[in-house]
Amino acid sequence: MRTLSWERIKESGRPFLLHGGRVVRGTDGPARADILVSEGGRIARIAERIETGPEAFQVDVTGALVSPGFVDMHQHLDKTGVLKFTPNPSGTLQGARDAFAKYARTAPPEDVSRRAARTMARCLARGTTAIRSHVNVDKDAGFNGIEALAQLRSDWADRMTLQLVAFMTPHPNQDLAWLASNIDAAVDQADAVGGTPAVAEDPMRYMDILFEAAVRHERPIDLHLDEHLNPERPLFGAVFERVRKYGMQGRTVLGHASVLSALTRSEFEHIRDQLLELDIGVVTLPAANLYLQGRSHDMLPPRGLTRVAELARAGVWIATASDNIGDPFVPTGSGDMLEIARWTLLAGHLRGDELATVYEMTTSIPARLTGLGRDHGLREGAWADLVISDCDDVSALVAQGPDRMQVLARGKPVLGGTELPCTEVRAMAETS
Ligand SMILES: [Zn+2]
Repeated sequence: MRTLSWERIKESGRPFLLHGGRVVRGTDGPARADILVSEGGRIARIAERIETGPEAFQVDVTGALVSPGFVDMHQHLDKTGVLKFTPNPSGTLQGARDAFAKYARTAPPEDVSRRAARTMARCLARGTTAIRSHVNVDKDAGFNGIEALAQLRSDWADRMTLQLVAFMTPHPNQDLAWLASNIDAAVDQADAVGGTPAVAEDPMRYMDILFEAAVRHERPIDLHLDEHLNPERPLFGAVFERVRKYGMQGRTVLGHASVLSALTRSEFEHIRDQLLELDIGVVTLPAANLYLQGRSHDMLPPRGLTRVAELARAGVWIATASDNIGDPFVPTGSGDMLEIARWTLLAGHLRGDELATVYEMTTSIPARLTGLGRDHGLREGAWADLVISDCDDVSALVAQGPDRMQVLARGKPVLGGTELPCTEVRAMAETS
């Protein structure tokens, strides 16, 4: 037996066997299994014992927890890291929107790429192997953000899945005619259609523009819906009408849904039942909600999150995600989905016996909602996008986090993180 560095595995490009890990599959506890990773970076086989030929390295990860990579299904990579250029003195959502709009009018596209790549690298080192990013397309930002990120999506395809949402942002005084005439060019470069109806001056017409574009381009819808706590103006009913009219069942995701916490129980239950009936997903964004909502309250400011625990317990597909990282909307953020998972449990009032639920909200549920399909998860044929850690189980992974971990992206070790020591089980047949 000799020491085998992750660096050597990365450089070799050869298949390798992860030997003896405790593999997370489904909702049962982890079970011992070997995983064979192909040269192409996919899981070639998972079985209790796998014998391999001399062409494969064998890497002993006995006892380590092996999880699929995290899926951060709601970020804003065009905005990440701009806090230092454009502060938000009021700390409110509208203050953040204004600050970014001011910045976007002058920011060069190479600035977007540089900041986004830095955050993507941080996320990847912490185990996130798929990101969906909303990208502003409006009169201020133009197409700078989406063009820069479309380039990153292809440059990073060997390491990470990056999906882009054409976020057709209706700033105050933004005329809908501009959005309507530019939406096709934006959605052409995107994986989903997005927007924030509560801000639009004519939310109904605005939503029609978005849904019609989604149908024309055969893309899913991912809206920021009711990122506020005003019970007088929820837009859920109008969205449900359009999901039915445009046949977008199972292809619609709603981010924030904060207002559900401000509605009465019976109003909430009526909405919850339609979310289930129409197979609509929800994404909670605890960092943004905790930071931006409730600033006008002198006493007992609300958390600002949607009814996370009730939605999860009712069987609504609810994921959690980072939203903004280091910008006027959320000045903090490490890109660590485990940090977001903890915010979700604490601020969402889930229980200690629901840590595994929160884990699913960072892995299998966002994978389903973003349509990653058979590319994600611990199954044969999926990308070998793995988080290997010294945690006992997924509850401990969320609650305490690992002391040591190793991330594999497309079967390649991501170097530079907190690495697990790694030893070769038996000598290779030949050395190169
Ligand atoms: Zn957002």
